[in-house]
Amino acid sequence: MSDPAPDLLELRGVSKHFGSFRAVDDVGFTVRAGARHAVIGPNGAGKSTLFGLVSGTLAATTGSLLLDGRDVTRLPVHRRVGLGIAATFQHSSLFLPETVLENVLLAALRRAGAGAGARTGLGGRRRAGTRAAATARARTLLERVGLPTRHDVPAAELSHGERRQLEVAVALATEPRLLLLDEPAAGMSPAETERLTRLIAALPDDVTVLLVEHDLDMVFELADTVTVMHLGNHLTTGTPDEVRASAEVQSAYLGTTEVTS
Ligand code: ADP
Ligand code: MG
Repeated sequence: MSDPAPDLLELRGVSKHFGSFRAVDDVGFTVRAGARHAVIGPNGAGKSTLFGLVSGTLAATTGSLLLDGRDVTRLPVHRRVGLGIAATFQHSSLFLPETVLENVLLAALRRAGAGAGARTGLGGRRRAGTRAAATARARTLLERVGLPTRHDVPAAELSHGERRQLEVAVALATEPRLLLLDEPAAGMSPAETERLTRLIAALPDDVTVLLVEHDLDMVFELADTVTVMHLGNHLTTGTPDEVRASAEVQSAYLGTTEVTS
């Protein structure tokens, strides 16, 4: 391959200890700009903890995280959002009493508010312009994730699958460079999973995707790179074919039957 893409994210010897327990233990790998990079591994492997370290909801015990070569290890969540890291979480973080549109709009406005112009203080007319632009953007995103007719419904009234779609729209509203998706298809119907897979596949290349997913069909359909974790450790990072072929991965996680589909 010629002209490889630069690394957007680099993890260097990252660990998270809870007391004496090492949920993530000395993990290092890189995520190329534009990658569709999946993290897989059995329950308890440390995948969600690792995402917490990248998004900033958890502080690393050791090691460092670099975004575009910049050390973000100690930055709080909102600073990382400002640098383009967005996450959906395994456990939903929606504002359930608010409408679908309002959920996306709030995220879009927070993003607009993180811009330099907003910090210098906006006049009322500029603010109204920002809100109108953010509303238009929110509507576009809701269409993109497949919720074009649900704008005025409280998020609490959405089906499980629709909530996951909304979470993706909320994350996209922050205009991420790195989108972290933790089991986005969990609890979704096959049709919803299919739609979500198409949505992720259609994201522009300037959105790099780091995905934790149990549905291996979805992983092997979407991912160009796969990292395997096991008991807090990094087992391997490679192409889907390399990961399927790895004997170590087979014995630790995938078994012998599930990797051929
Ligand atoms: P995965 O997402 O791969 O299923 P997690 O990252 O959620 O795994 O969890 C990895 C391990 O760390 C599990 O054994 C889990 O019980 C443990 N763990 C996660 N969060 C905490 C916490 N806040 N305190 C103590 N142990 C935790
Ligand atoms: Mg998890």
